[in-house]
Amino acid sequence: MSTDVRIGIVGAGGRMGRALVREIGGTDGCMVAGASERPGAPVLGQDAGAMAGIGSIEVKIHDDPLALFAGCDAVIDFTSPSVTAHHASLAAQGKTIYIVGTTGLEAEQFDALRKAAAHTAIVQAYNMSVGVNLLAGLVRQVATQLGPDWDIEIVEMHHRLKVDAPSGTAILFGEAAARGRGIDLAQHSERGRDGITGARQKGSIGFASLRGGNVVGDHSVIFAAENERIELSHKASDRTIFARGAVRAALWARSAAPGLYGMADVLGLN
Ligand code: NAD
Repeated sequence: MSTDVRIGIVGAGGRMGRALVREIGGTDGCMVAGASERPGAPVLGQDAGAMAGIGSIEVKIHDDPLALFAGCDAVIDFTSPSVTAHHASLAAQGKTIYIVGTTGLEAEQFDALRKAAAHTAIVQAYNMSVGVNLLAGLVRQVATQLGPDWDIEIVEMHHRLKVDAPSGTAILFGEAAARGRGIDLAQHSERGRDGITGARQKGSIGFASLRGGNVVGDHSVIFAAENERIELSHKASDRTIFARGAVRAALWARSAAPGLYGMADVLGLN
């Protein structure tokens, strides 16, 4: 009998869902054990592997999340914030490892993740790439060294279909900078400037979002002072990097105690 970690994918028909099917297919020690989609999705009944371009893996896409969570060791979710709380409760019920990559989560969804994490290991990250998580550590370090005379601006660009702004990764960098400065991001962020906004607030962290084409994800954190500027940037050219991080998180979580973790834990950066 196979000892592979049985991984389920919610949203298997999405851009990340398909990348996950391909990534798991090419990774030793794990297998796609189930795949689900939203009720009414056109891909229901199709083979998850065939749909992701790697040929049949004999896993049909269904719309029963309860069966998915009950039948897998770990479930990876890159879908919509509206289903995160429900999926978290199914993970707690089945003691299923839960990896959440969905962005745009609100406080109530984070509460649901914290509650479910009493029963199982959950990894939540707005960006699962190794490079971005390393860069977040550098952003924090630079922000710790530089005082509020250095304005911090975060610029991101994504493909034209992205529905939330600023990107989860921009927020992740904003939080890293805020932690470095010892301030609360919610109290010090400037978003969506338009019209006569007045001068920039000293010590705030600004966000700007660009949308267009098929850009997978570009981010720059700019530290600007009188007469000099530091820019830390990351450019993603393929979704594989996020899928690889999510699969790594699922395999790592097998030996983790119940709790809510981030990619810094998975990568041993904490
Ligand atoms: P997408 O629109 O291509 O795919 C989302 C899929 O989820 C769709 O196929 C949709 O039908 C499905 N879905 C929606 N509700 C569902 C439900 N109740 N049950 C099952 N499936 C459901 O979007 P995408 O580009 O794959 O991105 C998905 C999410 O992942 C977004 O929030 C995006 O910002 C985020 N994302 C995160 C990272 C990261 O590293 N954390 C990286 C890339 C994208």
